[in-house]
Amino acid sequence: MNRVRLLVLNAALGPLDYRVPDGMVVKPGSVVRAPLGPREIFGIVWDEGRLDANSVPDSKLRPIFGVLPVPPLPDELRRLVEWTADYYCASPAAVARMVLSSGGALKGPATMTEYRLSGAEPERMTAQREQAMDRLQGEQATLRELAALTGVSEGVLRGLVNQGVLEPVAVDCDRPFPRADSLYAVPVLNPEQQAVADRFIAAVSDGGFTPFLLDGVTGSGKTEVYFEAMAAALERGKQVLVLLPEIALTEAFLKRFEDRFGAAPVTWHSSLKSTERRRAWRAIASGEAQVVVGARSALFLPYAKLGLIVVDEAHEISFKQDDGVRYNARDVAIMRGRFAKIPVVLASATPALESLQMAESGVYQRVELSARYGGAQLPAISVVDLRNDPPPRGRWLAPKLVEQLELRAERGEQSLLFLNRRGYAPLTLCRHCGYRFQCPNCSAWLVEHRFSQRLACHHCGHETPPPPACPECGTQDCLVACGPGVERIADEVAELLPEARVAVATSDTLNTPERASDFIAMAQAKQIDVIVGTQLVTKGFHFPELTLVGVVDADLGLEGGDLRAAERTYQQIAQVAGRAGRGTKPGEVLIQTRHPDAPVITALAAGDRDAFYAAETEARREAGAPPFGRWAAIIVSSEDEAEARDAARAIGGKRPELPDIAILGPAPAPLALLRGRYRYRLLVNARRTAQLQDVIREWLGAFQLPNSIRVSVDIDPYSF
Ligand code: ADP
Ligand code: ZN
Repeated sequence: MNRVRLLVLNAALGPLDYRVPDGMVVKPGSVVRAPLGPREIFGIVWDEGRLDANSVPDSKLRPIFGVLPVPPLPDELRRLVEWTADYYCASPAAVARMVLSSGGALKGPATMTEYRLSGAEPERMTAQREQAMDRLQGEQATLRELAALTGVSEGVLRGLVNQGVLEPVAVDCDRPFPRADSLYAVPVLNPEQQAVADRFIAAVSDGGFTPFLLDGVTGSGKTEVYFEAMAAALERGKQVLVLLPEIALTEAFLKRFEDRFGAAPVTWHSSLKSTERRRAWRAIASGEAQVVVGARSALFLPYAKLGLIVVDEAHEISFKQDDGVRYNARDVAIMRGRFAKIPVVLASATPALESLQMAESGVYQRVELSARYGGAQLPAISVVDLRNDPPPRGRWLAPKLVEQLELRAERGEQSLLFLNRRGYAPLTLCRHCGYRFQCPNCSAWLVEHRFSQRLACHHCGHETPPPPACPECGTQDCLVACGPGVERIADEVAELLPEARVAVATSDTLNTPERASDFIAMAQAKQIDVIVGTQLVTKGFHFPELTLVGVVDADLGLEGGDLRAAERTYQQIAQVAGRAGRGTKPGEVLIQTRHPDAPVITALAAGDRDAFYAAETEARREAGAPPFGRWAAIIVSSEDEAEARDAARAIGGKRPELPDIAILGPAPAPLALLRGRYRYRLLVNARRTAQLQDVIREWLGAFQLPNSIRVSVDIDPYSF
């Protein structure tokens, strides 16, 4: 009898046992097709005994249908799946879905037809065809993907195929990627950089789990240095994974990578086309993909011979996934490095307190780059006290900041204004009755986006055109914008400096790789004078002509009771300040605030990072917050408010009483209504040594709740 245990992808059931038919060869990690009820599902052959299985008698076992022609998943990856599921209180199947890219990477034929413009003109031009032709320039994809890209229907595109305007191209989905060459353009490192690179290279060639914290000031050449570690891995035939927090940053990175290694790396992110996904997945699994640059989900791919992981901008909150499996990619990267026995580099100019603490306690090796490359100086930072030097009524830029903007315009240098608020105004009111426009699905105001003429919810995506009259009192043309967003600041700059070319850089305007790379190219070519942007432009970018950074509202992030707010504010402002003066001209930073005495602001102005981290460490110690204690959030939600509240109370009523764990709540969650669901939250605060996950699993496992109630667990939540 040949019995194996499968982790099946689409089951909340946990692992199941199956029979291996005679003559079929399966190994631990083999990806197989198997029956589940009337359906066929994907499963991964798991090790015996590691996961609990439903015990079905041998005679009742159903047979595996077949083994997929992909390499068995490496042991280290199966351990990572188990660890992730266990640590984040998630189902192993949900984690395994990330490994197999929901099965999408496995399905589909090896060749397929894509379409591109042939150069022929349509017989008759229509508005739709014109729109399609416009957006099809330089594109090649399936009709379905082209329809999504162009915004016209597949029917319209099929018409163009029939007329020969779009021509079919047979594509080999598994065609190889271009090879990166470690010797293509080797830089000359300065002595400090070389010393760091040497340590990385030694760790890569020795192998073994070595976590590094690469702590280097902005512009010190962190990328340049970890590129040399990557080169060392490539020379040894190893694969490298680089995690980046955002797509806009990825575009800048790809260009630098190609300059250094002579070929583009393999990318992995949510907007890959299905053929690209399949191609990348298979190349990763076969070992052919040398360097993968990706979003956090790239951590769970089946690298055949991973030799190094780099997490750049490792402090970024976007490494935390906030739905489904709520994992922190920075921490999972460390675990993958541990299981794979390889070095992991966390790079940042503003590390998270947790990472610094790990370095201080000797768990991570800290390596420092203390000076900007090429003699560039860190920018001078000063504070504009908005109480003494306020902007004129209805404006947001103080005279001092305006003066500096004008000076940059005269000199032909670039400026960057940072405000972490998308859209035109965060709140819209009726001037007559004071009615506030609120999202019907969320407890959030609708944000006016003037460029695109809509009121939008930033949480659920709900959108509506601004109404001609107030829905409450019926007054015509009554809307007033309250407070500034980046679009409003851009308007203000346009009025102050009519000649200036102003660009708004947010996730609304840089939402595709093409737009992001266009923006970078324009900024580098000095076709933009003033950038007005959200946190998207705070890190990674290198614009040598940028000499002024203005922080429009430093107090914004400090509002609310979140214990992490100070750290986040510090990181954002230090990062955005780091965009100034990276070339030969010195940079200057002006921070607008009403709280010039707040510890964050004084530390930034004095350039005293240690003072900030010391104060923050004390605050966290007192609150029992990470790294001194641990938090978990339990969110109970339902479309029915009373149901959510009652369930949260019932769960709260059976809270475990333990000396090392305190449980707060339930109380309405910070977003009490989100996407139509009412949310209540319990906060768990534990000592470092507590068996936090076991306690939560046992506690919540005792409840049988109807499907209308959802309970989600967030271990190490970002805000607490
Ligand atoms: P960081 O990631 O620390 O902000 P970067 O790696 O982006 O720093 O380096 C800042 C700038 O200095 C980049 O334009 C980079 O190409 C340049 N640079 C850094 N080190 C070197 C070097 N050794 N040789 C040539 N250029 C370098
Ligand atoms: Zn909403």
